[in-house]
Amino acid sequence: MRDKLIRLSKSSIGPAEKEAVVNVLDNEYLGMGQQVRDFEVALSEYFGRPALCVVNGTAALHLSLQAIGVGRGDEVLVPSITYVASYQAISATGAIPISCDIDPDSFCLDLNDACERVTERTRAIMPVHYAGGIGDLDGYYALASKFGLRVIEDSAHALGSSYSEKLIGSFGDIACFSFDGIKNITSGEGGCIVTDDLDVLERVKDARLLGVVNDTEARFKGARTWNLQVEDQGWRYHMSDIMASIGRVQFHRKENFFKKRQVLADKYCSIFKNIDAIHPVISNFDSVVPHIYVVRILKKVNRDALRRKLLERKIETGVHYPPNHLLKFFNNPNIAPLPNTMKYGEKIISLPLHADLTLEDIEYVADNLIQLLE
Ligand SMILES: *Cc1c(COP(=O)(O)O)cnc(C)c1O
Repeated sequence: MRDKLIRLSKSSIGPAEKEAVVNVLDNEYLGMGQQVRDFEVALSEYFGRPALCVVNGTAALHLSLQAIGVGRGDEVLVPSITYVASYQAISATGAIPISCDIDPDSFCLDLNDACERVTERTRAIMPVHYAGGIGDLDGYYALASKFGLRVIEDSAHALGSSYSEKLIGSFGDIACFSFDGIKNITSGEGGCIVTDDLDVLERVKDARLLGVVNDTEARFKGARTWNLQVEDQGWRYHMSDIMASIGRVQFHRKENFFKKRQVLADKYCSIFKNIDAIHPVISNFDSVVPHIYVVRILKKVNRDALRRKLLERKIETGVHYPPNHLLKFFNNPNIAPLPNTMKYGEKIISLPLHADLTLEDIEYVADNLIQLLE
């Protein structure tokens, strides 16, 4: 029995992050400046196309939707099993999130189900790269081109993952990442938008700074725009230099983080391989950097009770995620059923996964889960 809690997820912060923050504080320029510019340059080189930093991943999704013209009455297809951030970003534009079912193997958007839910008002599709795994991305893009939709990839879980040997974010329409405290890398809070679309890039640059035209260029020079013009709705969504200074250090550490997450997830899978009651959602991490480690419990158990017993043994767990279409604000009584969401959504539980865990920690968690299911 451990006396220290094994956390479900957490940031991994070293001396370099602390030093970087102190340097920004010493500069006494805390807003959006050189640090943000340098972080954007690093991200753009990594993805091979322009990346813009914003205050969080939700803002990245919201600004992307606004930039492609999604607004009141429009519909956006999105899987029911995702963080509420995807849904709130859509409804923030006045559009309606249309809950789609998940593919029971990947827990990503089910292509056929999404296809059935296309209407005249559908403007975009927002696949979510669940746990870092990628669904039928070619299929989503084919659906989008058939119906003239835009694609915004909610890539909050997928920094470092690939599809067909291509890095997520390096291709496709628009990809949005999150750098919140527990994501694959963090900038405290934070997020970015990656796209080749010059019009989207220009709109996002202004909209993140309250719509002030060309303010981004001024801020990167440590200045501000005084003779200002505003042409569109904007938001206070820029990233600060404090955040970017953390993000830049984490960016340099990313390959170690990615490798560590893969090794730990592989370890879980090797232990669960011959356990019938435990079925990992993802079991091959060659091209996946796992953000969370989710298993289906294929045995009739009370999930809350199981999680409580694990917590007694100092193991924190999670549920990613309660279906969004059941939440009061997003509930639509008239929608067609989502059978896989309902069936498998109840069986999932997320086990601890972060870069500071050891293989022994993983063994302890896995052994206890197996024991409790016997
Ligand atoms: C974390 C997350 C987001 C939003 O990111 P924030 O930085 O927390 O705003 C969006 N979608 C999913 C699936 C996420 O997990």
